[in-house]
This record gives sequence, C-alpha cells and structure tokens, in this order.
Amino acid sequence: MAKVMAVNCGSSSLKFKLYEMPEEKVITSGIVERIGHKDAIFTIRIDGDKVTKTLEVSDHGVAVQLVMDALIEHKIISSYDEIKATGHRVVQGGPYFRHSALFNDDTYSKIESLIPLAPLHNKAHLVGYDAFKKVLPHTPAVAVFDTAFHQTMLPEDYMYPIKKEYSEKYMIRRYGAHGTSHKYLCQLGETYLDGDDKRMIICHLGSGASITATHNGRCVATSMGLTPDGGIMMNTRTGDMDPSVYYQVLKMSGKDNETIFQEFNKQSGLYGVSGISNDSRDVEDAAEAGNKDAILAVNLWARRIADFIGQYYVRLGRVDMIIFSAGIGENAGIMRKYVLERIKEALGIVYDEKVNMDTRGTIATISKPESKVKVMVIPTDEELMIARETVKTLKKNNIE
Ligand code: AMP
Repeated sequence: MAKVMAVNCGSSSLKFKLYEMPEEKVITSGIVERIGHKDAIFTIRIDGDKVTKTLEVSDHGVAVQLVMDALIEHKIISSYDEIKATGHRVVQGGPYFRHSALFNDDTYSKIESLIPLAPLHNKAHLVGYDAFKKVLPHTPAVAVFDTAFHQTMLPEDYMYPIKKEYSEKYMIRRYGAHGTSHKYLCQLGETYLDGDDKRMIICHLGSGASITATHNGRCVATSMGLTPDGGIMMNTRTGDMDPSVYYQVLKMSGKDNETIFQEFNKQSGLYGVSGISNDSRDVEDAAEAGNKDAILAVNLWARRIADFIGQYYVRLGRVDMIIFSAGIGENAGIMRKYVLERIKEALGIVYDEKVNMDTRGTIATISKPESKVKVMVIPTDEELMIARETVKTLKKNNIE
C-alpha cells in the first residue's frame, strides 16, 4: 500500500489528488487557486466535505506547504514520508517522451527545452515540480506527458506540409493533447470489446477537446495539433482552419498578433460563433430556445466532429467503438445527439435516444445491439491515470 499524489500545476493553480495505490482509492483531493495573490483560495475535501480557505499564497512553494500542512492537520497522513511518490501532469513532452518518465536532470532539462512549444504549461509544471522537490526532497517524482500516448503516430499522421527547415529546426509538428485521458479511455474502452483487433474513435469533448483514433491500444491519429487550438472546434477555440485566416484577420482588423492569437483561443469556437458564452451549456440552451447564432454554432461544432470521425473511420479501415467523454461528452446528451445524427447513416449506428439523453457522467452503452458500431459514454479520469503511470514508472526504475 502506498500513497501517491497526482499533481496538475498551472501558472496560478495547483490541483492534487491523493490515492492509495494499488487499490486506486481516492483519499482526498483539492486545489489552490489564484497562487501569487493575497486572496488565493485553498479547497480540500475532508471526509467528502469541501473545506475552503481564502488566504495569501505568494508562490507555488507556499501552496505545496499549505497542502502538506492540511494533510497533517486533518490526519490524512502522519508524516511526509507516507507519500511515496508524486506524479506530475506535463502538457508537452515533444518528441522525447513515448512514456512517463522519472524526474531527473535529463527529464527536467528536456521539459525545460520544450517551453517554447508550450510556454505557459511547461514552465508552470516545472515551477510545481520544484516546489514539491523543496518540501519533499527525497520523494520520487514522475512526469506524465499529455503527448506521450500520441507518440505512436506515423510521420504522415503527425507532419505538417511546411518547409523541412521549420519541422526540423523548430520541431513544428502535431503532438496532440489529452493523451493521458485518451490512454485511460482506450484501455477501459477495449475491455468492452471482444476479439484481438480493436479499433476505436475516442471523443474527449471538454472545454478543450480532441478526437483520437486507436488501434489495439495505440494512437494512430489525433486531432489536436502543435497547440491546443488545432483540431475540432471547441468552446472557445477555433480548431483547424485555413492557416491564412490568421493573416487575413490580422491585416484587416489592424489588431496585433498576440490579440488575434488570444481571440482564436479564448473568444472563438462555440462562444465566438454564438456570441453567447464560453460554457457550452449556455450555447446548448440558447440553441434549444431557437437562437439562430447558437443553432449555427452547435451545427458547426457537430459537423466538424462528424468530419473528423469520418476521416478516422477511413484511417482505421473500420471502427468497433466510439467513445464520448469529458465535460460535454459525458454529460450533454443533446450534443452527442447532434454528432450521432450526422454519422449514423454512414457508419450504420443505431442508438437509443432515451438512453443517450438520460446518460450523465456514468458509463453507459448508448448504441443498440444491432448497431454496427458500439457507442459508449465513459467518464474520463486523468488523475487516476497519472497515479497508475507513476506507480508503473517507479516499478520500471526499480523504486519500491
Ligand atoms: P472539461 O474540460 O472536461 O472539464 O469540460 C468542461 C466543459 O464541459 C464545460 O465548459 C461545459 O462546456 C461542459 N460541461 C460540463 N458539465 C456539463 C454538464 N453537466 N452538461 C453539459 N455540459 C457540461
């Protein structure tokens, strides 16, 4: 039995979940938000209840100390040594990491060298790692990469048709994202299929969203690209477009580069087209109420997902199962319906409308037995996957 802490550090936040492994039991979880502010918010779950404090947290070091003090105070642990390892989410592993890796000087410097590809994320992950290292100097740490699962793609699936110089010198290519979630869903999804040749399309539809084609546990293709703005249309991100849209908007609006970049990431997608909200639920509601812009937004969203599914169906040669997951995929029956209605004829999908609409946040098969493709809703669990990867990586490195 060992306690393993799954950690997700952002530039001003620290999310954690403490597991008892290998039982995979969640002991507690929490978040420190607004790190760097006088009114930071610390939330921790104690016996199922949320305990929240507002206080000054000057940096990630203070945040880690706060978390550790709370674990002791609430008698979740009696000493720091009880935490056998920390597993850190790392957004960008570049071409270097096909698997999770033990944090050492080499891992650290590679993550650091990839900061230009994921400026906000990778920097924050290292700040978080440093903070834990200070408080838990002897506790092994593992880096779990969002990109690792996608490293099995072939060059024809991950290269962009740009000058060789840019691909090589600047490492510009598709790396994908949400790999930890896709891996979790792929492993669990495959347990619902018979035979030894399993082909799936996994739709991780959260506020960030991506679709992955998998064949026998391996990623064949994924929709997100070099950055999280690539692939399908999202709550606030454009997804794939003619690359010259950027240039044209820049030229015609007179706005600067950074502004357009931010707008394409934070004010586009469902939000941009509908003009309503950055939460898909508001757009969904407005579309149901007959708002024309919202209807166009959800139609555009579903069309682009359907197009990717079609593309991946051809790429795989066949598909046995389609999985819907993450905030929208798990909870929004109506959004799943918009997608299913656009793919059902071509793929021979027959689904149960009521089961689809009634499914929220639970594992469910929404296709009927006669459907040519099984369609399931499976809630994702990235933190659990981080804890599993951490244990696996320790074993691989002979660390008990
Ligand atoms: P995620 O990034 O996976 O946490 O997903 C967050 C997004 O999922 C939100 O911005 C909403 O667009 C959507 N979402 C979350 N909960 C629900 C829900 N209960 N019903 C419909 N959509 C939801």
